[in-house]
Amino acid sequence: AKKLGKNNYQFFTPEMNGSAQTYIKLEKHLRRALEQDEFMLHYQPQVDVKTGTIIGMEALIRWISPELGMVSPADFIPLAEDTGLIVPIGAWVLKTACLQARSWQKIGRPTRVAVNLSSRQFHPVQTQQGSQHPLLNAVLNALDEADLSPELLELEITESILMQHLDSTMELLNTLKNIGVRLSIDDFGTGYSSLSYLKRFPIDILKIDKSFVNDITTDPSDKAIVAAITAMAKQLNLEVVAEGVETLAQLDFLCELQCDFVQGYYFSKPLSPDEVMTVQRQGILV
Ligand code: C2E
Ligand code: CA
Ligand code: CA
Ligand code: CA
Repeated sequence: AKKLGKNNYQFFTPEMNGSAQTYIKLEKHLRRALEQDEFMLHYQPQVDVKTGTIIGMEALIRWISPELGMVSPADFIPLAEDTGLIVPIGAWVLKTACLQARSWQKIGRPTRVAVNLSSRQFHPVQTQQGSQHPLLNAVLNALDEADLSPELLELEITESILMQHLDSTMELLNTLKNIGVRLSIDDFGTGYSSLSYLKRFPIDILKIDKSFVNDITTDPSDKAIVAAITAMAKQLNLEVVAEGVETLAQLDFLCELQCDFVQGYYFSKPLSPDEVMTVQRQGILV
């Protein structure tokens, strides 16, 4: 134990100490953030370039901490995953996004809402009744509480989620699919997985990662990759959404490659619910 203690001590070099303390502080505040209502969702429009209509909105979490200020999801989602806090936070995201989509539907603007999921949310828990999926309960509760039709909910999962816990994930995704929820693969093309999962899992949508869109106008291999993804998606009857579209030149290339749905700063940054209302009323994107 003494040896372990010594090793532990050595871990805290002055440099490490700073980041470990930051991490502990972040965790302390993150634990209270849900009950203190410090999260909100912003929504980024996904646009059908042929018609100019909004086909969906991706929900992106924001943490406005009184102590820490605005914390990026890139900084706290990994911590939420490590600590397991992503499970209650993820349930809150599902509920809030479904309520929001329902309110858009009520004002005559039915819009699909896409929610990001972490691999941790796919871990089954063992109960006396056997293995259960907290995620399935969270989805069903969110749809039920919002009275939202399942077709208006999309779940964004990553390739790495499909690669872990294969059997239970497959069962869960099939159940969600049967309920009528839509499933998309986020950051498509960046994982190290085999494409055979496109055949095995009930996927509806591929989201082309922005790393392929960034240099699409200058890098022939990025252009070739996007062309291959859209062609394959057509054959497999999947929708394709290109992410991170920032310029008209990128948009032109994507149109030429028959990629019909795009998302990115060129059309809109992620918007607060109030800003969404303004956009919907003014029809800025249409
Ligand atoms: P992501 O799912 O790949 O989301 C896209 C990110 O790219 C978002 O960053 C979005 O604001 C940003 N983005 C959108 N358009 C553009 C563009 O044209 N150019 C550039 N450079 N960036 C663009 P954000 O909101 O900071 O989210 C970062 C990541 O955090 C997300 O990446 C996602 O992995 C995670 N995340 C966000 N919200 C949630 C959530 O509710 N649950 C989970 N599990 N993860 C979330
Ligand atoms: Ca996403
Ligand atoms: Ca993405
Ligand atoms: Ca991501």
